[in-house]
Amino acid sequence: MPREPLPSVRDILAARSGEELALNDRYLNPQMGRILRTLGFDKVWSGGEGAHLIDADGERYLDLFGGYGVFAIGRNHPRAIEAIEQAMAARTGNLPQLGVTLLSGVLAEQLLARAPSSVAAMVPANTGTEAVEAAIKVARAATGRPRVLYADHAFHGLTLGSLSLNGGAEFRDGFGPLLPGCQQVPFGDLDTLERELAREDVAAFIVEPIQGKGVNVAPAAYLPGAQQLCRQAGTLFVCDEVQTGVGRTGRFFALEHWGLEPDMVCVAKALSGGLVPIGALLVSREAFDRVFDGMERAVRHGSTFGGNDLAAAAALATLAVIDEEDLVARAERMGKLLLELTRPLVERFEVVRDVRGMGLMWAIEFGPPAGAGARRLWETVERRQPGLFSQLVTVPLFHEHHIFCQVAGHRMNVIKALPALVIEEQEIRRFADALEQTIAAAERYPAALARFGVRAGLRAAVARR
Ligand code: PMP
Repeated sequence: MPREPLPSVRDILAARSGEELALNDRYLNPQMGRILRTLGFDKVWSGGEGAHLIDADGERYLDLFGGYGVFAIGRNHPRAIEAIEQAMAARTGNLPQLGVTLLSGVLAEQLLARAPSSVAAMVPANTGTEAVEAAIKVARAATGRPRVLYADHAFHGLTLGSLSLNGGAEFRDGFGPLLPGCQQVPFGDLDTLERELAREDVAAFIVEPIQGKGVNVAPAAYLPGAQQLCRQAGTLFVCDEVQTGVGRTGRFFALEHWGLEPDMVCVAKALSGGLVPIGALLVSREAFDRVFDGMERAVRHGSTFGGNDLAAAAALATLAVIDEEDLVARAERMGKLLLELTRPLVERFEVVRDVRGMGLMWAIEFGPPAGAGARRLWETVERRQPGLFSQLVTVPLFHEHHIFCQVAGHRMNVIKALPALVIEEQEIRRFADALEQTIAAAERYPAALARFGVRAGLRAAVARR
């Protein structure tokens, strides 16, 4: 039987809207479908603009996931779309492979101009994890050493090399054996780092300046100290700026907060405006030249789509938007306001343990309340599923306030926000107000828990009390 001709994308979008969940459950990830239905997050998202997602009824939701942080310049920024259209209209000689192209060259020039002078070359990639994989390979080849150090709670991506640098069992379990020679060290602890480096077999220490999982900010002296210890030990110091880079923390790169000069910087996510996959590893000239040290070694690392014209075009437009709309300074300003409005929640609510962040990378952490009755209920909820309390906040934020935000990692009561850097001040204020109302309701848990329990299948846990 001949197949039906496939309609155009425009026709598919128009004619089959509403089938998303059914298609997901049949062909993609039915467990994701279950999560969405359980939380009531099973929306049809039909559009996005700036800091908002728009559902099929035209309702706008403040998007604090930001696509895991890719929408720094906002969703569907017209400048980035136009740049992609321009590259397409030019019918460029994309991906010659045995050849070089203009747009990725200009992107490297522009990105390196915004990076510390310690890095001087770019290895193009398509995702964050690919940038990290490149860093592992470059470090090993440049130093001739086998080991790589990473921090507890680290997240560097989910391909096998990056997974070997993951600080959480929930991601690693079941996928072993992982890469040999990868060793975890406590985030913030220079003594352990120094001890491990002393063996002089460590190729690189890879670290997120602010950890994405939990939004952990290192003690002030940690990163400069780590960099210095690495220098002394002949180990390459690598900053993974996949999440923190491109303006997120109120600097173009978070490493600027500490004046760091790493040997490598991993970039991805927001770099191409959230429209085209992208990644890049910025490398010191010395490390680069040690790896690519002859014509026969010119292609010893790479990726077919790395440096493609659409990604480079979108990235160049993203950099232009960041400059013209002054988004780095805006992230700093809005981040300060968000902290100012939400830090008092620590005093106001027993369950709020901490509010932290830098720029528009923000988190709130919950912990058990002091009163015996309330604490018992907290423990019941958390026994059922550690980290569940946070859902008592994210679910009403979504349904009652149209604010879409995420829990910052498995088994942790941390809610995180990575809004578009273009977010309006009034939306920051609305979020802070909604958060306060929602925590107040969640703290009076029995009612909130019963309501949520119906959705989350918690009835059994509640009834057992
Ligand atoms: N490094 C960091 C710090 C990240 O936050 C992420 C993604 N959350 C990655 C690497 C992996 O990026 P990707 O999902 O694009 O592979």
